[in-house]
This record gives sequence, C-alpha cells and structure tokens, in this order.
Amino acid sequence: MTTELKQQTVVVSTIDEMRKISESFRGQTLGLVPTMGYLHEGHLSLVKQSLEKCDHTVVSIFVNPRQFGPKEDLDIYPQDLSGDLEKLESLSVDVVFNPDRQTIYPEGFKTHVQVDEITRNLCGKSRPQFFKGVATVVLKLFNIVRPQYAFFGEKDWQQLAVIETMTRDLNMDVEIHRVPLMREPDGLAMSSRNSNLSPEERKQALSLSRSLKDSKEKIQQGIISSKELRQNIRNIISAEPGTQIDYISICDPVSLEEKEIIKGRTLIALAVKIGPARLIDNCIIED
Ligand code: AMP
Repeated sequence: MTTELKQQTVVVSTIDEMRKISESFRGQTLGLVPTMGYLHEGHLSLVKQSLEKCDHTVVSIFVNPRQFGPKEDLDIYPQDLSGDLEKLESLSVDVVFNPDRQTIYPEGFKTHVQVDEITRNLCGKSRPQFFKGVATVVLKLFNIVRPQYAFFGEKDWQQLAVIETMTRDLNMDVEIHRVPLMREPDGLAMSSRNSNLSPEERKQALSLSRSLKDSKEKIQQGIISSKELRQNIRNIISAEPGTQIDYISICDPVSLEEKEIIKGRTLIALAVKIGPARLIDNCIIED
C-alpha cells in the first residue's frame, strides 16, 4: 500500500521570510497566484494551473487597501484566512504569503505604478485609483516573491491587460498566464463579493451572465450594432430592481477601445452595482 505524502504548506507574513524561501527554490520554477483571499473555485483554478506548470507555487493573500476608493467596500471585503489555508493545504501549495498592510505599505511609502490609456475606460473610469493600486501591489509582489510565472483570471479582463502591459513596458522577467473565467452552475461569475449578496440580490445578479449569453445569441442571429446590443443588455439588467449599471462596454479586447459594430474579436464587459457589491462579468465574441 502506498501512502501519498502531502507536502506541508508554509504560511509566511514577512518579506524577509518570503525572500528566503524564494531563494531556496532557485534553479526551479516558481509560480505566483496573487489574491485577496476568500478563495473560491475560480481562484483555485489559477492555483491548479500554477501547480501543474511550476515546481513551486506561492499564493498571496492580501486585501490591498490602495485599490479601493474611499466609498468602496474595503471594510466589508469578505475574509476567511483559516478556510483559505485549508483549501490551499489540500492542494499542497508550497507557500501562502499573507503580509499585513504595514508590511506592504510602511510609513513613508511614496511610489506608484501608473499604466496609461487602457486604464481610462471600463473599471478605470469609475474607480480612478483602482489600477494604480493593482499595478503597484502586483509589482511589489513580483519583487518580493520573484516568480518566473504569475497567474491571473480573465474574470478581471482589464486587470490582466494592465498587468501584461506593465510587465512588458517595464521589462519584467515574469511570464503572465491567463486563466479562463469560472462560473457557478447557474452562470454567475464566481467572485468573493458574491458572499455579500442577499439571496434576492444573488438572483438579480444572474442578469449579468444572462445578458451576456443573450448578446452572444443576438450576435449569432446577425445583430452587429453595439448600440443595439448595449441597449438589450441594459434592458435585461435594469429589469431587475436594485441593479445599478456602472458600464456596458463593447470593445477591442486588447486596446479596450469601444467598437461601434461587432467586427473581429470583441470583448463585452459589464460592471453592475447590486446591494453592497459591485460585480463584473465579461465574455469574448470570437472573430
Ligand atoms: P481577487 O481575489 O478577486 O483579487 O482575485 C484574484 C485572482 O483570481 C485574479 O487574477 C482574478 O482574476 C482571479 N479570479 C477571481 N474570480 C475568478 C473567476 N470567477 N474565474 C477565474 N479567475 C478568477
């Protein structure tokens, strides 16, 4: 009889400890999965890809205050460190990096990363601080953990575009891997923020994925006007009381420039406020 030995997951919170461990992996491949915790299957699909591709995997859990605006949901962002650790241990993740705010942003912190142009539209418009906060913390995590590979979900399409642009523009030695968006069986895009929805709000939230599915069907039927498709999405989502549309974007998946007609590969991306949560979802229309 063979017993499978599960590798122990190490939890570290200081930069020194993290660096020492990364140093000990030298000569082997290291993958990083940055998260804000409250892990679900969407996060775990990134972790599984890293485990498959790399000799070692670090998952960071850090709710980054600098990517939240003053009126956003930082204070109610869901957290469950022990639940997260259980999930990561069961996958035999090597290291969980869980620094506190002071470790990442000590007194006197002054430097930020700003990626231009692609941060102007979509989430960048209504969350002007967001991508500056994201790019800065991801660059810091890369510098602390020194991975060769990093894994990000296509759920946050614009975030991925920002990270890819930053790593290219700043000649960073990290290969970014895209992981497809994971949905609940009923179509809702998995998100830590779903846990802040009431049962009624969760039902209303299904209008996002429903409107994307409906758009795909309309496009298959030959409708190519973005204006018409946008209006159709608006109708589906607004039919649910309590939804507040932030944006509906029909754009080029790389430049994120709006398109008037569906021609070539196209991204349809949405952000909608429902109760305490601002939810995002997207789909790609292939060429
Ligand atoms: P977060 O903890 O929300 O900052 O997400 C951490 C990483 O997990 C990001 O790269 C997200 O894009 C990814 N992620 C979150 N939700 C999903 C999902 N439903 N499907 C795939 N990736 C996801």
